[in-house]
Amino acid sequence: MTRDPSPHAFALREEIDTALARRADFDSWSADLKDAQALHMRKDEFILLRFQLVVGLVISAVTLAWDYVAVPGQFDTALAWRLLTNVPLGIFGLAVLRRGQTAQMKIVVALNLISIGVLSMFLASYGTQEVMARYTMAASFILALSCLALPFAPADLKRYALAYGLITALAGLWPNPLPPQEMGLFIVFSSLVGIPCWVIARRNWNLRARAFLLDMRDDLTRAELEQNNELLRQLSEQDPLTGMPNRRHFERVVIERLEGRKAEQAWPGKLALMMIDLDHFKAFNDRHGHQAGDRCLTLAATQLQSIFPQEYGILARYGGEEFIAAVRERVPGEAMRLAERMRAAIADMLVPVRDDTKPLITTSIGVALAPADTTLDLDDLIEIADVALYTAKRAGRNRVEIIEAGDTAALPMGDDEELRRA
Ligand code: GH3
Ligand code: MG
Ligand code: MG
Repeated sequence: MTRDPSPHAFALREEIDTALARRADFDSWSADLKDAQALHMRKDEFILLRFQLVVGLVISAVTLAWDYVAVPGQFDTALAWRLLTNVPLGIFGLAVLRRGQTAQMKIVVALNLISIGVLSMFLASYGTQEVMARYTMAASFILALSCLALPFAPADLKRYALAYGLITALAGLWPNPLPPQEMGLFIVFSSLVGIPCWVIARRNWNLRARAFLLDMRDDLTRAELEQNNELLRQLSEQDPLTGMPNRRHFERVVIERLEGRKAEQAWPGKLALMMIDLDHFKAFNDRHGHQAGDRCLTLAATQLQSIFPQEYGILARYGGEEFIAAVRERVPGEAMRLAERMRAAIADMLVPVRDDTKPLITTSIGVALAPADTTLDLDDLIEIADVALYTAKRAGRNRVEIIEAGDTAALPMGDDEELRRA
């Protein structure tokens, strides 16, 4: 079975485990667990019941011929009885009832069988000794076989067997009583075949119920594993301090999008990769303490997220006091304006600290801007953005520097190396 367990099924987890461990009989299950089982089985049961209804109708039509030969005097009654009971029940069960009405279908099938049993006993009472024996035996066999074949829970099966036994026995007593000896034989024979079949049916039902519990436990375990995996994946891609995506998430998403860029070619906007680095953050930490530094990072994350257009790009904490963003330009110059707004938002931040000082915190942003159809990969883009960032730092911090991809060759190598070491 591959269907997903309902949320309700999770509440039954403990009972399922206990029932499996104790090998508990179906009768001792809670109503909720029985309902879950009924829901789980109803499709298969409905198909089986439909089939049994058809078989019952075919048998009752075929046996008309035997009725005609065995008790010709009662043939009209037999025909009318079938037309008035089996036919409407069959039509109702086959044409009206739907899968959600498996419980009603069980009643229809049970009534159909009882009706066939009653007719057998009624006809028996008008037959010769030999005919009597055949009809009463047929009534007993129907009881025994239906106990084995019907998909009924033990309690329902008990009700059905009792109802069948009593009603068919009554049909043997009224309107035309069978001889006491025949009735005695019917009762003995019904019990002899009926009781063992009932015991076997009960055992089968409990085995099927156990299979259901095992299925259900497998489904729940699989669903729990999937949920845990998803939770772990989310946790492993989330920055614990700011709650924003972390570097791992950023890289996964950007690499996926870069790899799928052919599909995006209809959108001609340039791709901007931004490295956002707080200025002199070590000094801030040293002066105001690590806790204030953490508050500053959280606040910076909130500010950046409030400005950043999440639907066109992705913003993450890259590590330490660095953030990273990738965004598609919808109009030329948008990346530069966005970076400028982010820089200004950080500069406007008021970070709560221990003393009354209102420390200023600024940020430098390096942007790598690549054409929509760029062949550069993420590492290349980060390298270019890094170069832009260090240019911004060297130029005095609290500023944005942008490098159009392809411009990198223009940078003197020595300068680049020197910036990296700084
Ligand atoms: P620059 O302007 O050149 O970027 O200087 P900087 O001081 O910001 O850069 P540096 O790399 O020297 O220092 C970064 C500091 O960020 C060092 C570290 O104490 C601090 N830091 C990194 N991660 C965290 C964090 O999670 N919480 C706090 N409070 N501080 C952090
Ligand atoms: Mg840094
Ligand atoms: Mg810094």
